[in-house]
Amino acid sequence: MITIALTKGRILSETLPLLAAAGIVPDSDITKSRKLIFETNREDIRLVVLRGSDVPTYVKRGSADLGIAGKDMLMETGGDNLYELLDLNIARCRLMTAAVKGREPIQGKTRVATKFTEVARRYYASQKRQVELVKLYGAMEVAPLLDLADEIVDIVDTGNTLIANGLEPLDLIADISSRLIVNKASFKIKNAQLMPIVENIQSELGVSQ
Ligand code: AMP
Repeated sequence: MITIALTKGRILSETLPLLAAAGIVPDSDITKSRKLIFETNREDIRLVVLRGSDVPTYVKRGSADLGIAGKDMLMETGGDNLYELLDLNIARCRLMTAAVKGREPIQGKTRVATKFTEVARRYYASQKRQVELVKLYGAMEVAPLLDLADEIVDIVDTGNTLIANGLEPLDLIADISSRLIVNKASFKIKNAQLMPIVENIQSELGVSQ
């Protein structure tokens, strides 16, 4: 059995055509169902739909063989025990720092609110800036408005969410897109089953680019 972990939400609808190109079709409408594990037209393949932040964990621990995860999640969770096989070029966005528009430079320690605390810790250390990290789980944009933090580290796509909240993007930390990842042991042991899937997705990417 091959288990493929998918990220629910906005990535999912872009993921399904790639799977279809690899000949994998879920047995019911994943985007509508409340089920989390789906059988497919292939007896040997099942899909599991998870939070993006959990996909690398399932793949690293071998509970899923393959996964589709945002680079932001991979940067945050770390890459032990998995290989990043393909850049799927979907769900493209940027991981950035942002602050209240036109605010004065911060003296001393900067308070940074984010759900990407590991990424933020590494980024500010690389900039030799002293920070106090505040872990949040959503709506990071609120933090500078209520003086919980001086800056945030967040995903920016169009930038409209920042603008709507009176914030502005500052520094680019990384360009983000979704990646196909594989558990290292699975890649060795199930290579013959996995390679055709990877190759079909890769050639579909070539076609659509
Ligand atoms: P935008 O207003 O277009 O800049 O979108 C920013 C908001 O949408 C942020 O709060 C993000 O959390 C979310 N977002 C946008 N693109 C993505 C993506 N590719 N993956 C995850 N979240 C995203």
